[in-house]
Amino acid sequence: MAKHVPIRQCMACRLRRPKHELLRIVLTEAGPVLDPTGRKPGRGAYVCPDKPECWVEKKLRRFAGATAAELSQALQAVLVIQDKSASTPTTSPNESTTRGQIQPGVPALSDQTGERPRST
Ligand SMILES: [Zn+2]
Repeated sequence: MAKHVPIRQCMACRLRRPKHELLRIVLTEAGPVLDPTGRKPGRGAYVCPDKPECWVEKKLRRFAGATAAELSQALQAVLVIQDKSASTPTTSPNESTTRGQIQPGVPALSDQTGERPRST
């Protein structure tokens, strides 16, 4: 038996992918918030973090409605920056802590400490 992998669907392209390959977004009262830790309460949805065609306003509108434009901009700002820094040749030796991480201003206090919200 293969071990169970949670599958989520990208809201933009409808592709089903393992949850950890997708970026979670939560709609809050203040607007859409990127949720790389997957822990924020609220109405969530997922997009492909590696496919710019999934970040366009038109495709996000189904989920984000009037805030789709804002969400689209947030996705592009965060993900494009991340992509650039990942492909930049190592000019500064102190950058290793940020590589490969999607951190839109959210402290990544999960996954490194080993604590998990599982209650089994
Ligand atoms: Zn997608």
